[in-house]
Amino acid sequence: IRYFDNAATTSISAAALDAYTKAVEHYRGNPSSLHQEGREAKAFLQQTREDIAGLLGVDAAALTFTSGATEANAIILSSLIWKERKGQVILSGIEHPSVSEYSRLLKQLGWKVTVLPAPRGFVQKEDLQRALSSETRMVSIMLVNNVTGSIQDVGGLVEVVRTFEAGHNNRKIHFHTDATQALGKIRFDLKSMGVDSAAFSAHKLHGPRGVGMLYNTNAGIESLSRGGAQEQGLRPGTENLGGIAAMHQAIKEAFSNLEENFEQVSSLNRYLRDRLTFLPVLSPPENCSPYILTLSHPTLPSEVFTRLLFDQGFCVSSGSACSNNAKQKSQGVLSAMAFSPQLAKNSIRISLSKDTTEHDAEALALTITHLNLEHA
Ligand code: PMP
Repeated sequence: IRYFDNAATTSISAAALDAYTKAVEHYRGNPSSLHQEGREAKAFLQQTREDIAGLLGVDAAALTFTSGATEANAIILSSLIWKERKGQVILSGIEHPSVSEYSRLLKQLGWKVTVLPAPRGFVQKEDLQRALSSETRMVSIMLVNNVTGSIQDVGGLVEVVRTFEAGHNNRKIHFHTDATQALGKIRFDLKSMGVDSAAFSAHKLHGPRGVGMLYNTNAGIESLSRGGAQEQGLRPGTENLGGIAAMHQAIKEAFSNLEENFEQVSSLNRYLRDRLTFLPVLSPPENCSPYILTLSHPTLPSEVFTRLLFDQGFCVSSGSACSNNAKQKSQGVLSAMAFSPQLAKNSIRISLSKDTTEHDAEALALTITHLNLEHA
């Protein structure tokens, strides 16, 4: 099997798995327990938080461990639901369902939701500027899109919001970014981007599934769950110590090899683009993560094309494979990018990792070329 679905999930690294095992074997206590075992687990948890914060260049107090990016996004978006004073929320039209699904819910509850278009994958600053109003409470725009890989100028978009705030009695607007597909793949700096919060998931960068993080500097965020005082009350529930230790290891590895991996994956991406020029490319040529390459077939619907590739031993995805009805949702994302319904319907997402080899890429290019000749 040749695996090209790394934007859906990656395989856990040996060192991350080892970190998981060591942490769960060694720290048997619950970090909330007051005895020795509990205190040791708590100290380990805090040390891990500080180490990850150091790698991200943020304050440890701003990091909350969650079950993944879905929960991190949910904490931020659902925080609005507890507020009595309703207002406006601005989302990009290319958000992952763990953000975009709040659109319907918030509307039902009386919020005004503005969805920004993202022609060819990019939210336009002018569109954001026009959408902002004295009612705006939150803006959520992702960093790297999971369907095409387009990288938003989040720093520039935050700037638009801050300029608006300054002209409106410094009314605070919360800026959230879903950075799930960015962590460990492209360099970014949360502090200099100026976002208030960001969501991450460990399994996209060779960590385990079911663990992630919320970066948040806004003290007004209300927790999604009710329960204990873990994670400063923002995420009650016994901490996934093994998962957190493994995520730390995965981030460490990804950060120390980031440039090298980026170069290698970029060269495979270029190779695939060069070899597959007969197919329309939906991933933008610039400001795009090399880890994602989305193409479209002129005639074959994506479920047919992906099935033909599965039959030849290749794992690719038809758009985003994050949920059962993902196809419909990734088509929504692609239509927000102003691609024709035909291009969207026939899209296939090839997503790479540091473990993808030249051999894999050659085999994929050859197979797609043959399939294209057969089904042209
Ligand atoms: N946001 C983006 C951009 C994603 O790609 C994903 C993973 N499909 C998520 C959020 C959700 O991550 P998880 O399933 O780990 O909660």
